[in-house]
Amino acid sequence: MDPLLARRVALVTGAGSGIGRATALLFAREGADVGALDVREAAAEETAVAVRSLGRRAVALAADVSRADEVARAVAEASAALGHIDILVNNAGITRDATIRRMSEEDWDLVVDVHLKGTFLCTRAVAPRMRDAGRGGAIVNISSISAKVGNIGQANYAAAKAGIVALTKVTAREYARYGVRANAIQPGLIDTPMARALGEQRLAEAAAATPLGRVGRPEEVASVALFLASDLASFVTGAVIEVTGGRHM
Ligand code: NAP
Repeated sequence: MDPLLARRVALVTGAGSGIGRATALLFAREGADVGALDVREAAAEETAVAVRSLGRRAVALAADVSRADEVARAVAEASAALGHIDILVNNAGITRDATIRRMSEEDWDLVVDVHLKGTFLCTRAVAPRMRDAGRGGAIVNISSISAKVGNIGQANYAAAKAGIVALTKVTAREYARYGVRANAIQPGLIDTPMARALGEQRLAEAAAATPLGRVGRPEEVASVALFLASDLASFVTGAVIEVTGGRHM
């Protein structure tokens, strides 16, 4: 049997760390060539090297997803190097937590720009190429359970992640006629550098409050992204899947 992503090309943003890196590597194991995009060139390159060591083609793309010019250049570079793009995973992200009263306008703009505008800019750059190539496609947007529960101290992040859910549904409707599906994942707390910044105590509290009794692993989000990106999900579009170990159900 062919691997799930045989002959596919995936562009993964935030591919240099955590969930993005796990996704790039899992996709490569399932036969995909990978454009590994990250704001840090060295991190993108590290993931590209790891993908190549799995026997797949990879290109490292240094770009800030919140900058239209950098996104356009990276997408053109990935298409030129790998032929086309069948899968886009909008995963790049940051946090700048503070309560509303203390949140600066700069931190609001920064977080909303990276998550929501970044997802829009990458979708705008890639989806029309998918349409023109006539091969269909799959877009997987990484939202967060924070969009559903509205975590204290995450006004910028939760609002951006909720916006990503709406953007996913618009994308699904606009591109369904071209065979391009768009879906979102809402992870709970996942053990990555972003989550570890919360500190050991917060991670332990989150694990205790989770029915499955632990925080998630990046690979456990990557495997849901793989399902959504593959033909296993051929009739799934506009959907939001929670990957939380049962927390916030
Ligand atoms: P991570 O380990 O910090 O990885 C995020 C990657 O994105 C980093 O390599 C980061 O680079 C990169 N990045 C940041 N800003 C960027 C930009 N403007 N353009 C391109 N790349 C950029 O975090 P993660 O936990 O894997 O998070 C991945 C996604 O999952 C994020 O969208 C996050 O919001 C979401 N998520 C995570 C959790 C969790 O508990 N971990 C839960 C729910 C949702 P730098 O390291 O240089 O910043």
